[in-house]
Amino acid sequence: MINRPRIDRWVAVFGVLALLCGGLLAATISRSRSAAARVDNAETTIRAALDRQGAALLRGDRTGWLSSIDPSLSKEWDRLYANLRGLQVSGWLPRTRHVEEGAVWQAEVQIRICFAAPICPRTPETYVPTGDVISARTRWTVTGDRAVLTGFAQFDTTGSVPWKTEALAFATGKRVVVAAPKGLAGTTPAEWLPAAERAAQVADRYALTDPKPGRYFVFLAGEGEWNQTVGTDRDAAAFVDRTSEASAFAVVDASGFGADFGDENLLRHELGHIATLLGTLDHHDDWAVEGLAEHIAYADRPASSYELLPDARWHVEQTGWDGRLDLEWSDEPRDRYGFYAMGFLAVRCIADTYGERRLLNFFTRVVRRSETPSQAAPEALNTPWEAVESTCHPKIKAWLAASPP
Ligand SMILES: [Zn+2]
Repeated sequence: MINRPRIDRWVAVFGVLALLCGGLLAATISRSRSAAARVDNAETTIRAALDRQGAALLRGDRTGWLSSIDPSLSKEWDRLYANLRGLQVSGWLPRTRHVEEGAVWQAEVQIRICFAAPICPRTPETYVPTGDVISARTRWTVTGDRAVLTGFAQFDTTGSVPWKTEALAFATGKRVVVAAPKGLAGTTPAEWLPAAERAAQVADRYALTDPKPGRYFVFLAGEGEWNQTVGTDRDAAAFVDRTSEASAFAVVDASGFGADFGDENLLRHELGHIATLLGTLDHHDDWAVEGLAEHIAYADRPASSYELLPDARWHVEQTGWDGRLDLEWSDEPRDRYGFYAMGFLAVRCIADTYGERRLLNFFTRVVRRSETPSQAAPEALNTPWEAVESTCHPKIKAWLAASPP
């Protein structure tokens, strides 16, 4: 009771303060609302400029592509244009983040690219992984509804195919695009194209995606590019880089130490990987993955023509092989060829015994859906896995015995 008047005074003071604060708060809110509206407008204008650039790129309009670019950036954007057109760009999905007001506007930009893909959807996963995404910190002048790009600093540019940063040369066929760094020593994309086209005809027969790959991409790495991606391991001459579920590039060591342009087996193997793995980002079961690629490399040729048969014999002798088909893989250089050869023989035997259609069903279940061979075999091959192994064991031994070294 005694304190009542005091409380009342406090209440009154608090009320005044609250009114004052409320007024200040309202002013702050209205100021930040107008700042937010300016950011929204600028972001919309920047997005519209990026969308217009993408539309120009997709229709092959270089002038339109450069129309919102400061001339200081035209060299870099010319190079990007040539590379993306060369790689059959089929989708351009930009997004902006962290748009900030200043003397010039700043924004972080990400643009998902699709290469020769009939469908290029925007999903929560579109910008992950970053191989097919241009990421850059950008600066813009925004006047009314026009935005001009004045600064463009890319990040996340590493990758086995340096299309974001290097000038590339191309040779384009019906099913394959061969790319290389401009000025690559010793060979040209055009030299590789005929064998790559023939290889693609074979790989297409094994394509496990519907639709098939839009185009197969082969990148000829020079010594610098190869060393940067692979290191100095010269045992491998090529590999497939899956940069997203929608894109894969066959990267070939064209430094003169690795592959040469007549090596159709190698191209069939790598394009075979693309045909059978596109749509996935990782896998186990290397025996099936490498075995099927080797089977595609040797399609229409008998097992007896297989050049790694001596490595298979060596593996069988060294390990006392007991007929297991799904061998644990080893990357030891000493064992490597033996595992490729055993993978080939396993896959060839399954194709030979049950037919290629069933083999591909089996592969889809084991490699693309991570079923075990024991789970997959009854459905795909109509046979329990143990029976598949006991059928193939003598067949493979006979192949190895038929053509001794
Ligand atoms: Zn391979």
